[in-house]
Amino acid sequence: MARRPSAFILQKRRKPWKISQSAVAHSFQKNWRIEVKHQYPLIYRKLYGHYGPQNWWPADTPFEMMIGAILVQNTSWRNAEKAINRLKPFLEPRKLDDLPEEKIAELIRPSGYYNIKARRIRSFLSWFKTYAYDLDRIKEREKAALREELLNVKGIGPETADAILVYAFEKPVFIVDAYARRIFHRIGYDMPASYDRFRVLVEEQFPPDAQIFNEFHALLVEHGKTHCRTVPLCGGCPLADICQKRK
Ligand code: SF4
Repeated sequence: MARRPSAFILQKRRKPWKISQSAVAHSFQKNWRIEVKHQYPLIYRKLYGHYGPQNWWPADTPFEMMIGAILVQNTSWRNAEKAINRLKPFLEPRKLDDLPEEKIAELIRPSGYYNIKARRIRSFLSWFKTYAYDLDRIKEREKAALREELLNVKGIGPETADAILVYAFEKPVFIVDAYARRIFHRIGYDMPASYDRFRVLVEEQFPPDAQIFNEFHALLVEHGKTHCRTVPLCGGCPLADICQKRK
């Protein structure tokens, strides 16, 4: 591995007294990116110590959780919750499956994109039906194969699939969302743009324990709402001592 030369060697080679300081700084940034060691378990411990257990997902049943994961796409949890409350009398797989798509769309109107989401709920129910709506049967499936199946359901992307995997089927998966991207970036971590590379990078540092990934996602959401907001509130932040506060 190439070693970073000392400032003295660099000065001798480039004769910096003949070039501007900003050119030296630029050269350093270009050639010698400063690597920050990623320590996701440390972040987890600090957030857990500060906020405590989050007891997610906020739903009465795993089925409600899965429908909620579709309803919250492209909207706030508050709007998704309004739709869930209207849907409550039908929140059992067979009952919901018996409803016409138009009726589902009408009930979930507060979540926005209701026609598209009603179609997605229908696609999801068709898949769920292939297992006779039996959660335990699905849980027996191996994580990667189950993830692949969920991603093949129309309208279920990686974030929704992973939320369902963690919170309904208790599989150890890290959920990459806007909060995780924002918090890790501000701390100083250069994360991959690719969803799956980001996910694997984090998963590699933890034991395959669904409860940890359940808590970690919930803690990052809580932190993104409490301190690391769009405009961050860094005072009293539990990550302040390890954070570069990058823009
Ligand atoms: S110190 Fe500020 S920028 Fe860094 S994680 Fe905390 S709130 Fe976010």
